[in-house]
Amino acid sequence: MGDVQFYNNRQNKAQKFTINDFNAMFPDDAACLEWLRGYLYPEGIDCKTCQRVTKHHRDAGRPSYSCDYCGHHEHPTAGTIFHKSPTPLRLWFYAIYLMSSTRCGISAKQIQRETGVTYKTAWRMFNKIRQLLSDGVTNSVGGPDKPVEADEMYHGGRRKNGTGRPMKGDTTKTPVLGMVERKTTERKGQVVARVVPDVGQKTLLSTITEYVLPDTMVYTDELKGYTNLQWKNKPDGTPYGYEHRRIKHSAGVYVNGDIHTNSIEGFWSLLKRGIGGTYHAVSHKFLQSYIDEYAFRYNHRETPKPMFINFVEQITKA
Ligand SMILES: [Zn+2]
Repeated sequence: MGDVQFYNNRQNKAQKFTINDFNAMFPDDAACLEWLRGYLYPEGIDCKTCQRVTKHHRDAGRPSYSCDYCGHHEHPTAGTIFHKSPTPLRLWFYAIYLMSSTRCGISAKQIQRETGVTYKTAWRMFNKIRQLLSDGVTNSVGGPDKPVEADEMYHGGRRKNGTGRPMKGDTTKTPVLGMVERKTTERKGQVVARVVPDVGQKTLLSTITEYVLPDTMVYTDELKGYTNLQWKNKPDGTPYGYEHRRIKHSAGVYVNGDIHTNSIEGFWSLLKRGIGGTYHAVSHKFLQSYIDEYAFRYNHRETPKPMFINFVEQITKA
């Protein structure tokens, strides 16, 4: 729970980027475009015709810049999530601000309400923004000296807010495998969480080997699916070199010296509160992208930049 508490505190203090900050930094479409230009072309715009970085000027009435020498047009929004969107750039930035500014995230419906766009447009923006975050999630955790806790949670199902293991015959719950690095004094741990088809040994071990680097100390509970983790070999037959410690939750033991899964529990409680508070019903189809949004927040919770800036800095040209 320590992680979650720290996250809350940060959101309310140093990392808070207020609506006044937003309005001052992005008063209109032109300011958003100028920010994009600065962010996407830090060395200046490389003119394709002149084949060098040249001076460019803003085109009047158009979201583009022209080369001072040859007149070649450059569109900062081309290839980004804003590409060919009829929605004004500032509304996009405002939607990103809204999504980044609460700990639990917001729904497409709230974007519709706050920006005045149609629900269809709000939903499209919401998914595009979330895609940015999915693209920015961590793909590997652990390694020597970076212990990882792996744990599963269950989403949905018949029992309201049920998060425990499904009862026999309940196929309505979707398992999610989370893998999180423990924090140290120097570094905050990163998390990866993946929707998995089941919690059988084959699935759990192959998911762990996909995301947890070799030679990692891995802490899990006593679920059968984690058995033999320390003996897993790579496709070439050499060992992954995992060490494996298990906590006996069934025996009522939650912490035994180093052996606990408190860090991943912190991430799960963040996720559950978010999904419970904002999204009500998350369908299987969208569950991974919801989880990615939370993983992104978790992985950026300690950066000196405001969360909003972490979000907009995910913008890239395809
Ligand atoms: Zn030129």
